[in-house]
Amino acid sequence: MKYEAVIGLEVHAQMLTDTKIFCGCSTKFGSEPNTQTCPVCIGMPGVLPVLNKKAVEFAIKTGLATNCKISSYSRFARKNYFYPDLPKGYQISQYELPICEHGFIEIVVDAEIKKIGITRIHMEEDAGKNIHASSENYSFVDLNRAGVPLMEIVSEPDIRSPKEAAEYMKKLRAILMCLGVCDGNMEQGSLRCDANVSIRPVGQKEYGTRAEVKNINSFKFVEKALEYEIKRQIKVIEEGGKVIQETRLWDSNKGITESMRGKEEAHDYRYFPEPDLVPITVEQKLIDEIKSSLPELPDAKRKRFVSEYGLPEYDADMLTEERSTSEYFEEAVKLGGDPKIVANWIITNIFRYLEGREINEVPFTPKHLVNILTVINAGSTSTTMAKSTILPEAFKTGKMPEEIIKEKGLVQISDSSEIERVVDEVIAKNPKEVERFKAGDEKLLGFFVGQVMKAMKGKANPQLLNEIVKKKLI
Ligand code: ADP
Ligand code: MG
Ligand code: ZN
Repeated sequence: MKYEAVIGLEVHAQMLTDTKIFCGCSTKFGSEPNTQTCPVCIGMPGVLPVLNKKAVEFAIKTGLATNCKISSYSRFARKNYFYPDLPKGYQISQYELPICEHGFIEIVVDAEIKKIGITRIHMEEDAGKNIHASSENYSFVDLNRAGVPLMEIVSEPDIRSPKEAAEYMKKLRAILMCLGVCDGNMEQGSLRCDANVSIRPVGQKEYGTRAEVKNINSFKFVEKALEYEIKRQIKVIEEGGKVIQETRLWDSNKGITESMRGKEEAHDYRYFPEPDLVPITVEQKLIDEIKSSLPELPDAKRKRFVSEYGLPEYDADMLTEERSTSEYFEEAVKLGGDPKIVANWIITNIFRYLEGREINEVPFTPKHLVNILTVINAGSTSTTMAKSTILPEAFKTGKMPEEIIKEKGLVQISDSSEIERVVDEVIAKNPKEVERFKAGDEKLLGFFVGQVMKAMKGKANPQLLNEIVKKKLI
């Protein structure tokens, strides 16, 4: 039996507002515990929340960017549960009337565009943070994060593989960062993901029973946690068991998911409309204003890169995931680089040297890239030499490729008499190989080319060298 995975993601994104969602406290990250609090966000009795307008605008922006319908009327609800990091005993969230619904975003899988539905986007407040003293039997609570505005973005169960889930996360992150509504930092928790996953036999229409996997805090783990969970569910079914509906926790150290609570232990949140806040009414005028202020979004940019520069979907997608990358690409093209070659170099060569940095933070600028392509074109160096030696050196030192070539004496040798001389030497030194080649072992061509390259310290013009070796041997 072949199985197919069905996945839906619930993503929490921390909004980049200066102040909290229902009070004027700062949202700055990393301050002394409990220094950014007030009676409202620590849940004192008798205080009243006041909605942050910026948070509403950010949610609308996100809704428009993900093709959602913006509700002209929505409201907040209380989600009741007890936990020490939740001083009011309830979280203010949205429930039956969220601010945005019925959207979609596009991802690129195997060079094809696929739509993933967005069920809803709603606003809510974050909780505080419990900090457990390692050797003592007590804990601390930091309420700086309590009341920080979040968006919860819920997808339809349209995702069919861990890879698609990761692509969806990447695209969503790219959109949020492009809009400037979230910093997209998964490790710091500004972007968190809960994954709902079930399996079903291929061809079956009905969904299987799902498990919800929590605590996924990096792109790598989105894929890993889902891969593990899918295998686990298949195993359960193949051994004659049943997948049960439950919440599971991803343990990144062990690389497994573990049961946290079953359906029976699931909370009853006793949702009801928040009586302390008026419903949110959004006028079309505001929606139109926000719409006209939206920047060019990753999908639009991807399409433009395909039509304007003739790039394949995949390349265009890779280049538009981060704004800095697309800007780098367009700058290099403006400086005279051939779009397809520039794209190729960014994706296959430059990305490898970023080591977590953004492309605009490294010493290898679009100018360097265009310079390296120019020296290759002029025949001053080979592509191989450029990739293996010049690129890493320029990344380290910030020196221009042409400078490096001069300094290190890397200038490519295109003088055929000089190459011929070394080819003759290599042929003379390897009579047995010559015999085998003449007897039909054509693989040895590579051996001769390699020997000459080695003797010439990689500086021979590879095309010319190939021709000369062939000419001499055949
Ligand atoms: P809850 O409020 O309990 O989390 P929702 O109905 O809001 O439940 O669904 C949460 C997420 O689960 C959504 O992203 C949805 O796409 C996904 N989902 C729903 N049913 C399934 C299923 N059978 N398999 C996988 N994912 C599912
Ligand atoms: Mg859920
Ligand atoms: Zn406050």
